[in-house]
Amino acid sequence: MSMKKSWKDKMWIITIVYFSIGLFNIMFAWFGMICFLAPMLMSIFGKDKAFCNSYCGRGQLFTLLGHDRRLSLNKELPSFLKSKWFRYGFLLFFMVMFVNMLFTTWAVFSGSGNLNESLKLLWTFDLPWRWANRAGESFPLWTVQFAYGFYSLMLTSLIIGLLSMLIFKPRSWCVYCPIGTATQMICKIREGERL
Ligand code: SF4
Repeated sequence: MSMKKSWKDKMWIITIVYFSIGLFNIMFAWFGMICFLAPMLMSIFGKDKAFCNSYCGRGQLFTLLGHDRRLSLNKELPSFLKSKWFRYGFLLFFMVMFVNMLFTTWAVFSGSGNLNESLKLLWTFDLPWRWANRAGESFPLWTVQFAYGFYSLMLTSLIIGLLSMLIFKPRSWCVYCPIGTATQMICKIREGERL
Protein backbone atom coordinates (compact mmCIF):
# COMPACT_ATOMS: atom_id res chain seq x y z
CA MET A 1 0.00 0.00 0.00
CA SER A 2 1.53 3.32 -1.00
CA MET A 3 1.56 6.10 1.55
CA LYS A 4 0.45 9.46 0.21
CA LYS A 5 3.35 11.93 0.26
CA SER A 6 2.73 15.46 1.40
CA TRP A 7 4.77 18.64 0.95
CA LYS A 8 6.19 18.01 4.43
CA ASP A 9 8.03 14.96 3.09
CA LYS A 10 9.90 17.15 0.62
CA MET A 11 11.63 19.40 3.12
CA TRP A 12 14.96 17.75 2.19
CA ILE A 13 14.75 19.66 -1.10
CA ILE A 14 14.78 22.92 0.84
CA THR A 15 17.88 21.77 2.69
CA ILE A 16 19.71 21.04 -0.56
CA VAL A 17 18.58 24.34 -2.09
CA TYR A 18 19.61 26.23 1.05
CA PHE A 19 23.14 24.84 1.11
CA SER A 20 23.57 25.14 -2.66
CA ILE A 21 22.45 28.76 -2.94
CA GLY A 22 24.46 29.72 0.15
CA LEU A 23 27.65 28.62 -1.58
CA PHE A 24 27.05 31.20 -4.29
CA ASN A 25 25.38 33.95 -2.31
CA ILE A 26 26.25 33.96 1.35
CA MET A 27 23.35 36.26 2.31
CA PHE A 28 20.96 33.32 1.85
CA ALA A 29 22.51 31.88 5.01
CA TRP A 30 20.13 34.14 6.93
CA PHE A 31 17.23 31.89 5.93
CA GLY A 32 18.82 29.18 8.07
CA MET A 33 17.63 31.11 11.11
CA ILE A 34 14.20 29.64 10.37
CA CYS A 35 15.56 26.12 11.05
CA PHE A 36 17.12 27.47 14.18
CA LEU A 37 14.17 29.38 15.64
CA ALA A 38 11.19 27.34 14.40
CA PRO A 39 12.01 24.18 16.43
CA MET A 40 12.59 26.27 19.57
CA LEU A 41 9.32 28.18 19.18
CA MET A 42 7.40 24.99 18.38
CA SER A 43 8.65 23.24 21.48
CA ILE A 44 8.06 26.32 23.66
CA PHE A 45 4.47 26.55 22.39
CA GLY A 46 3.66 22.90 23.02
CA LYS A 47 4.31 21.27 19.65
CA ASP A 48 6.95 19.06 21.28
CA LYS A 49 9.15 17.43 18.62
CA ALA A 50 6.89 18.42 15.70
CA PHE A 51 9.79 20.07 13.88
CA CYS A 52 11.99 16.96 14.05
CA ASN A 53 9.13 14.64 13.17
CA SER A 54 7.63 16.56 10.27
CA TYR A 55 9.57 19.59 9.09
CA CYS A 56 13.31 19.01 9.36
CA GLY A 57 14.80 18.75 5.89
CA ARG A 58 18.19 17.76 7.22
CA GLY A 59 16.79 14.72 9.05
CA GLN A 60 14.85 13.75 5.93
CA LEU A 61 17.99 14.10 3.81
CA PHE A 62 19.87 11.69 6.08
CA THR A 63 17.03 9.16 5.82
CA LEU A 64 16.91 9.58 2.05
CA LEU A 65 20.65 9.13 1.55
CA GLY A 66 21.36 6.64 4.31
CA HIS A 67 18.24 4.49 4.21
CA ASP A 68 16.57 4.89 0.82
CA ARG A 69 19.83 5.21 -1.17
CA ARG A 70 21.61 2.74 1.13
CA LEU A 71 24.65 4.95 1.60
CA SER A 72 24.92 4.16 5.28
CA LEU A 73 27.15 1.45 6.72
CA ASN A 74 24.47 1.18 9.40
CA LYS A 75 26.88 0.66 12.26
CA GLU A 76 25.69 1.16 15.81
CA LEU A 77 26.48 4.60 17.24
CA PRO A 78 29.04 4.32 20.09
CA SER A 79 27.22 4.54 23.39
CA PHE A 80 29.17 7.58 24.61
CA LEU A 81 27.71 9.59 21.71
CA LYS A 82 24.23 8.70 22.97
CA SER A 83 24.96 9.61 26.56
CA LYS A 84 23.26 12.54 28.23
CA TRP A 85 26.61 14.11 29.07
CA PHE A 86 27.83 14.06 25.51
CA ARG A 87 24.53 15.41 24.12
CA TYR A 88 24.31 18.27 26.63
CA GLY A 89 28.05 18.92 26.31
CA PHE A 90 27.76 19.10 22.54
CA LEU A 91 24.80 21.47 22.85
CA LEU A 92 26.85 23.67 25.18
CA PHE A 93 29.79 23.60 22.77
CA PHE A 94 27.51 24.63 19.90
CA MET A 95 26.07 27.47 21.95
CA VAL A 96 29.56 28.71 22.82
CA MET A 97 30.49 28.61 19.12
CA PHE A 98 27.28 30.48 18.27
CA VAL A 99 28.06 33.20 20.83
CA ASN A 100 31.61 33.37 19.47
CA MET A 101 30.15 33.93 16.02
CA LEU A 102 27.97 36.73 17.43
CA PHE A 103 31.08 38.36 18.93
CA THR A 104 32.80 38.29 15.54
CA THR A 105 29.68 39.87 14.04
CA TRP A 106 29.69 42.51 16.77
CA ALA A 107 33.36 43.28 16.11
CA VAL A 108 32.54 44.04 12.47
CA PHE A 109 29.48 46.05 13.50
CA SER A 110 31.50 48.18 15.93
CA GLY A 111 34.40 48.61 13.52
CA SER A 112 36.93 46.83 15.74
CA GLY A 113 37.18 43.83 13.41
CA ASN A 114 37.44 43.28 9.68
CA LEU A 115 35.05 41.27 7.56
CA ASN A 116 36.28 37.69 7.24
CA GLU A 117 35.04 36.32 3.92
CA SER A 118 35.79 32.71 4.58
CA LEU A 119 33.94 29.57 5.66
CA LYS A 120 35.17 28.14 8.92
CA LEU A 121 34.74 24.40 8.64
CA LEU A 122 34.67 22.17 11.71
CA TRP A 123 35.58 25.30 13.73
CA THR A 124 39.16 24.88 12.53
CA PHE A 125 39.72 25.24 8.79
CA ASP A 126 39.37 28.65 7.15
CA LEU A 127 38.26 28.21 3.57
CA PRO A 128 38.43 31.54 1.65
CA TRP A 129 35.02 32.05 0.04
CA ARG A 130 35.09 35.71 -0.97
CA TRP A 131 33.21 35.25 -4.20
CA ALA A 132 30.03 34.24 -2.36
CA ASN A 133 29.84 37.78 -0.99
CA ARG A 134 27.37 39.36 -3.39
CA ALA A 135 25.92 41.79 -0.88
CA GLY A 136 27.71 44.73 -2.54
CA GLU A 137 26.91 48.03 -0.88
CA SER A 138 23.30 47.06 -0.21
CA PHE A 139 23.81 45.35 3.15
CA PRO A 140 25.76 46.44 6.24
CA LEU A 141 29.03 44.56 6.67
CA TRP A 142 27.94 42.96 9.95
CA THR A 143 25.04 41.20 8.18
CA VAL A 144 27.56 39.72 5.75
CA GLN A 145 29.81 38.61 8.63
CA PHE A 146 26.86 36.99 10.37
CA ALA A 147 25.96 35.19 7.14
CA TYR A 148 29.51 33.78 6.82
CA GLY A 149 29.54 32.69 10.47
CA PHE A 150 26.08 31.18 10.44
CA TYR A 151 26.57 29.37 7.14
CA SER A 152 29.87 27.96 8.48
CA LEU A 153 28.04 26.62 11.53
CA MET A 154 25.28 25.11 9.41
CA LEU A 155 27.74 23.57 6.96
CA THR A 156 29.88 22.17 9.77
CA SER A 157 26.88 20.46 11.35
CA LEU A 158 25.83 19.12 7.93
CA ILE A 159 29.30 17.64 7.38
CA ILE A 160 29.29 15.96 10.80
CA GLY A 161 25.74 14.73 10.16
CA LEU A 162 26.68 13.30 6.77
CA LEU A 163 29.73 11.54 8.21
CA SER A 164 27.54 10.11 10.98
CA MET A 165 25.03 8.99 8.36
CA LEU A 166 27.73 7.27 6.29
CA ILE A 167 29.35 5.41 9.16
CA PHE A 168 26.54 4.84 11.62
CA LYS A 169 22.75 4.58 11.22
CA PRO A 170 21.22 7.12 8.78
CA ARG A 171 19.74 9.36 11.47
CA SER A 172 22.65 9.09 13.93
CA TRP A 173 23.19 12.83 13.86
CA CYS A 174 19.69 13.24 15.32
CA VAL A 175 20.83 11.45 18.50
CA TYR A 176 23.18 14.29 19.42
CA CYS A 177 21.96 17.15 17.20
CA PRO A 178 22.06 20.32 19.32
CA ILE A 179 18.68 21.49 18.01
CA GLY A 180 17.12 18.12 18.87
CA THR A 181 18.71 18.18 22.35
CA ALA A 182 17.57 21.76 22.93
CA THR A 183 13.96 21.09 21.88
CA GLN A 184 13.88 17.94 24.01
CA MET A 185 15.20 19.97 26.93
CA ILE A 186 12.56 22.67 26.46
CA CYS A 187 9.79 20.02 26.35
CA LYS A 188 11.07 18.39 29.53
CA ILE A 189 11.29 21.73 31.35
CA ARG A 190 7.76 22.62 30.17
CA GLU A 191 6.38 19.33 31.43
CA GLY A 192 8.30 19.54 34.71
CA GLU A 193 10.35 16.41 33.99
CA ARG A 194 13.95 15.84 35.05
CA LEU A 195 16.55 16.74 32.42
S1 SF4 B 1 17.36 16.07 15.68
FE1 SF4 B 1 18.20 17.80 14.48
S2 SF4 B 1 18.59 16.99 12.43
FE2 SF4 B 1 17.33 15.49 13.51
S3 SF4 B 1 15.26 15.98 12.88
FE3 SF4 B 1 15.64 17.12 14.78
S4 SF4 B 1 16.42 19.13 14.19
FE4 SF4 B 1 16.53 17.77 12.42
